[in-house]
Amino acid sequence: MEFRDLKQQYRVLQSQMDAAVLDVMAGGAFIMGRQVRELEQELAEYVGVKHCLTCANGTDALTLALKAWGIGPGDAVFVPDFTFFSSAEVVPLEGATPVFVDVCEDTFNLDASDLERAVCQVLAEGRLTPKVVVAVDLFGLPANYPAIRAVANRYGLKILEDGAQGFGGSIDGKRACSFGDIATTSFFPAKPLGCYGDGGAVFTDNDGWAELMASYRVHGKGSFKYDNVRIGLNSRLDTVQAAVLQVKFKAFREYELDAVNAAARRYTALLNGIVETPVVPDGFRSSWAQYTIRLRDGATRDALQAFMKAAGIPSMVYYPKPMHLQTAFAQDSRPEQAVTCPVATRLCSEVLSLPMHPYISEEETGLVVNTIQEFLK
Ligand SMILES: *Cc1c(COP(=O)(O)O)cnc(C)c1O
Repeated sequence: MEFRDLKQQYRVLQSQMDAAVLDVMAGGAFIMGRQVRELEQELAEYVGVKHCLTCANGTDALTLALKAWGIGPGDAVFVPDFTFFSSAEVVPLEGATPVFVDVCEDTFNLDASDLERAVCQVLAEGRLTPKVVVAVDLFGLPANYPAIRAVANRYGLKILEDGAQGFGGSIDGKRACSFGDIATTSFFPAKPLGCYGDGGAVFTDNDGWAELMASYRVHGKGSFKYDNVRIGLNSRLDTVQAAVLQVKFKAFREYELDAVNAAARRYTALLNGIVETPVVPDGFRSSWAQYTIRLRDGATRDALQAFMKAAGIPSMVYYPKPMHLQTAFAQDSRPEQAVTCPVATRLCSEVLSLPMHPYISEEETGLVVNTIQEFLK
């Protein structure tokens, strides 16, 4: 069994995929070709924002946003303690300070009330200026934007939506990557919408920020390629990856997102009452980057993972370490702030992500559930 079956996806899409890739080879426009602009238009339209700019990966996408906003030394950027490293890594890279915020017990997403506590603490200390909150759409589920927006408005924070795992999710029909002042996504192969390598994108309704990010994306270009008006990056999406994404995005819209939601419903129906299953609040829709259960303690989680492995079932621990305990952030640690994030810390020992993708069969989800049931007996 595959954790995320990209080979099966390729078998289904092969004829369209091969044609799309060969078309790029024959066309010769390998950088910023027609497919890149077409894809950006398709993505912006789907998400419901004015601008989409593709870039080299989801980490650069976050960096482009921070650069457009001029985030730097002395700025506090609030980041959930339970996320992939990138969400916070980009902050010290710009010279700013990440401040870790705890997550909700049920959704694993940023806890808006703990955000308010952290902002107030930073203001009371008076050393940093609160500027941005990175709201992560973890495992495919949009963060609680109504609650986060309320706190952000009270303290003048910008919202950077890290939708690397969230593309395709929605709240009351409004799509992920439209909630942040700027939003980002990743096309890393295992994400809900992935290419065949690295890729990413930024989304915004703001013309000025879009223009700045378009410049930062290509060496800080000004009026033309060899007019450089700021220090930027080389962070474009390859034309061949745009062509791959056009084929995958069609399948994603037509059936993959529905298929992965059907698989999640099967898991949840079968696992109900056996383990803690993912919570999707009313009105929210997930794109199921991960289907993550929670066990009663770390020993049970580790033993279950070993038991499943012996039965040939892959599983992953996303994530084994909270951000505030990452060695890389030690130099950014703020001794006057007692960062504990108890929920995030506990989740790291209790969560387990199960095989999940649009092509998983009923037999496979059934086998995973039976194996979990057998272990817990
Ligand atoms: C994958 C991921 C990223 C980074 O994306 P890359 O394309 O790998 O750079 C950022 N944030 C989150 C939450 C992610 O899962």
